[in-house]
Amino acid sequence: MSLDLLIKNGTVVDGSGLPRFRADVGVESGRIVEIGRVRAPADRTFDADGLIVAPGFIDGHTHMDAQVNWDPLGSCSCWHGVTSVVMGNCGFALAPCKPEDREWFARCLTAVEDIPTEAMMSGIEWTWESFPEYLATVERLPKALNYGMYIGHSALRMYVMGRRGLEERANEDDLRAMAHAVEEAVRAGAMGFSTSRATTHVTPDGSPVASRIADWEEIDRLVGALAALDAGIFQIGPDISGGEAQRAFLERLRRVALENGRPIMFGVLATRQGVDPNPWNYQTRYMDDVVAAGGRMFGQATTRSINAVFSLKSYLPFDVLPGWQALRKLPLDEQKCRLADPEMRRRLVAEEAQMKPRDSVLQGGGAATTDPRKPNYANLYPMLGVDWDDPSIADLARQSGKHPVEIIIDLCLEDDNRVFVQPIVNESPADVLGILKHPRTLATFSDSGAHVCQEMGSSLQTHLLSYWVRNKQQFTLEEAIRMLTFDNASAWELPDRGLVRTGYAADLVVFDEQRIKPCLPTVEQDLPGGARRLVQKADGIAATIVNGTVAVENGEATGDFAGCGLKSRLAQH
Ligand SMILES: [Zn+2]
Repeated sequence: MSLDLLIKNGTVVDGSGLPRFRADVGVESGRIVEIGRVRAPADRTFDADGLIVAPGFIDGHTHMDAQVNWDPLGSCSCWHGVTSVVMGNCGFALAPCKPEDREWFARCLTAVEDIPTEAMMSGIEWTWESFPEYLATVERLPKALNYGMYIGHSALRMYVMGRRGLEERANEDDLRAMAHAVEEAVRAGAMGFSTSRATTHVTPDGSPVASRIADWEEIDRLVGALAALDAGIFQIGPDISGGEAQRAFLERLRRVALENGRPIMFGVLATRQGVDPNPWNYQTRYMDDVVAAGGRMFGQATTRSINAVFSLKSYLPFDVLPGWQALRKLPLDEQKCRLADPEMRRRLVAEEAQMKPRDSVLQGGGAATTDPRKPNYANLYPMLGVDWDDPSIADLARQSGKHPVEIIIDLCLEDDNRVFVQPIVNESPADVLGILKHPRTLATFSDSGAHVCQEMGSSLQTHLLSYWVRNKQQFTLEEAIRMLTFDNASAWELPDRGLVRTGYAADLVVFDEQRIKPCLPTVEQDLPGGARRLVQKADGIAATIVNGTVAVENGEATGDFAGCGLKSRLAQH
């Protein structure tokens, strides 16, 4: 027998958390068939001497629903060792969707997730109406990654109720139709049902997205549809407004968990924003309590701060000011010319004094890039490296005796690819570590595909391995790999992924543990229609293999797409 692919001489970290060992890995027909000293010949042999061979990473919180239509590679996740993603999170999805609502759906995704409407209207061939039709479309599309998806509440509500879905309570007919669609979706292969109650999720005119109009009885009915099938995950964008509102939200969610028994997932976050934020360990203690009472819950975690990202090529904090607005309309070279002019600089710096004073209103990640309030310079950092130890703009201003705006202008002129980050949540590394160390959290919250020019979370896996494992030694490599693979595969009930084990799908990542790390993000204009987005690649990954096919080799796409759909238990065969 001849193998399709043989990975020779690597060090296997198998995803279970067990210690590493030296072995070859043989792959045939997309599956791992042999682990050991493999003697069988192979069509292709990949030398992994000195490299780690691990299961491909699984990212359960993405918004690739639109992007999967035009980007078969699945960037930027594909560059960080990711082989499987789940999309349709937070209730946002492209299905079910009636033809007359397509543009409205696209504009909602623009408002909430900063995915450009023009990219969606020109880059998507809208061939579906129902959720099963969308799933079949995704199955057909060429793709380097494996995709699972939820049926999203905001999409579903609009589909069943039309524009009433943005204002009204659902009546009995609406509820029956929505519950039926959830059941149909999960039977077809949906990973579950998603919704959002986050106050930061609004439509283009600033009103709440459809899922936020729903009352809890509606949530009970739709999660009840999952419970009736005993299948599917319920993902919810949590109320993170802090204080009593957030505590009441969690208490009501407890009932949903206990009554239905299905796994519930929501973002566990630490924040200094807002009034009276509930600390992360309030949220993890709550999960422990709910689970002790018989519910099932997972907290979704990032591996560093979630940041609003600024740069000369995208947003700057001063873009709301008239003088800046005039400047920012000019071609990039012209902007740089003017920014270097002393008189112009003086005026631009002075204009900053007219910005709105800061208050304590909590800002979502996307909206922070267009916030009219004066930046908090102590919480704004030039990204000089990826090690999460950069001085703040306030530090640099104090050291140099310059105005913070001048510091930002200087850094932009020095390198027009320079990005600046303003942590929105998870500001403190100690909080992030506490969240990641809790056994009920999953390292999985990239938001890839969303906030394309405002945030960059796709590097969460390479950040975990470079920062928390190599630099800070807070996790062994074996522990961190298990968090990115087996833990997520288990939480999302994927039966044959997340381990290097015979019989399992050959989703593998081959990397140098001394070199793996994210690169600095840049702004590129590579979306359909030429729209801009943030791009972040990684160093140290030799190969990413999906279903036995090498998808990315030394950071370059091979053009071979072997990704498939990931399906719920009821649609697996
Ligand atoms: Zn989300």
